[in-house]
Amino acid sequence: MQKILVIGNGIAGLSCARLLVNRGWEIEIWGNQCFSPTLILNQITCNLLQDIWQLESSFWNSLHLLQERKVCWGNDENFLSMAEPSMVINGNSLRNCLWQHLLDEYHNQIKFQELPASIDNLLERQSEFAWIVDAGGRQSIIARKLGASHRHSFGNRCILSQEVRLTNLVKKDIYWIESVSGGWLFFAPLGGNRAILQSMVPPFSGEPASIFINLLKQTRHIQDFISQLSGTLAIFTAFPQILQPLCGDKWLAVGDAAFSVDPISGDGTGYAIRGAILATSIIDAIASGLSSSDCLEHYSLRLGKAFAAHIQQCLKYYSKGFTSSIWQEEIERMHKAQELLQQTKHQDFTHILKGFQLVKLET
Ligand SMILES: Cc1cc2nc3c(=O)[nH]c(=O)nc-3n(C[C@H](O)[C@H](O)[C@H](O)COP(=O)(O)OP(=O)(O)OC[C@H]3O[C@@H](n4cnc5c(N)ncnc54)[C@H](O)[C@@H]3O)c2cc1C
Repeated sequence: MQKILVIGNGIAGLSCARLLVNRGWEIEIWGNQCFSPTLILNQITCNLLQDIWQLESSFWNSLHLLQERKVCWGNDENFLSMAEPSMVINGNSLRNCLWQHLLDEYHNQIKFQELPASIDNLLERQSEFAWIVDAGGRQSIIARKLGASHRHSFGNRCILSQEVRLTNLVKKDIYWIESVSGGWLFFAPLGGNRAILQSMVPPFSGEPASIFINLLKQTRHIQDFISQLSGTLAIFTAFPQILQPLCGDKWLAVGDAAFSVDPISGDGTGYAIRGAILATSIIDAIASGLSSSDCLEHYSLRLGKAFAAHIQQCLKYYSKGFTSSIWQEEIERMHKAQELLQQTKHQDFTHILKGFQLVKLET
């Protein structure tokens, strides 16, 4: 049995581990207890999670269900409503649940190790593993130790996030996205009297709490739903990034370590899971005899095209929503991403995923 090292125990790393042990690989996983934000998972992402993890119905039944999304963007006076069934989940609970699942079912095939403070000895141990998967999130430097040269960032914006308490005007199965001149806000009920409020802001120099309140006060709808702030304000970097290259000889980056998306997509978890499915199918395809360079090229192209489509979606929203010079700089940075990814537009896929298996297309 050959061994694979997965670094990172977020949704991408755990999903890689699960898909690989299922196919008979032995896994060593390095991880730690780090904070995951509250997640809103759309139906497609929930289905993918279910396909990979076969979770009990009691797991899904315990989650708060949202049915509808309302969006009020740019100068539009009205909001758009769309049916968008989604589940609310605490990111830490999801990780713990998946981790427990792995331990219960595969403790003979998986070895867990605390993420070492320094990864200087990684290269010494490299020969022990058939593959190394970097699933260490957007801050990871693992892939750069293994051969990636650069992590491109397309902006400087961040998310301010805090829990809030609700007024009685709230419909508890509707979540909202609203833009104001300085940024955009996301409001989602969590069940009971709680909701999460997040605001996307460009680089700022003032006090984050007062910027947060100030943006909230400019909203046309969301401020009516909030009776008070609770808990503490957290700050997350939230601009799109992509690693270059995304893979190399016996290593792949997956999830946020490969590319991280702007939260406007609402689907970072979905990207991470789809990345894990593709990465593990690449490893398997190479082990079963497909050309390594062709498979890795397909991996880069598939992720490159997904990231390019994401940037295009961001540009559509941000160009319509914001005119200030600080937002124009963010928009300009995203145009640079389009230039960088230009060549992926003209390349065709040579492989396709059938279920969880990578297949070479007939020419
Ligand atoms: C504020 C915010 C809100 C979000 N909301 C949503 C949402 O509503 N819906 C949605 O689908 N997505 C959302 N996302 C995106 C989603 O959280 C990520 O896309 C997803 O968690 C990526 O998973 P991952 O496993 O690649 O990375 P992570 O979840 O970041 O996991 C990386 C793991 O790597 C390990 N690690 C940490 N530091 C290092 C290091 N230096 N080196 C190596 N390993 C390390 C840790 O074990 C960590 O668990 C949100 C993101 C943010 C920031």
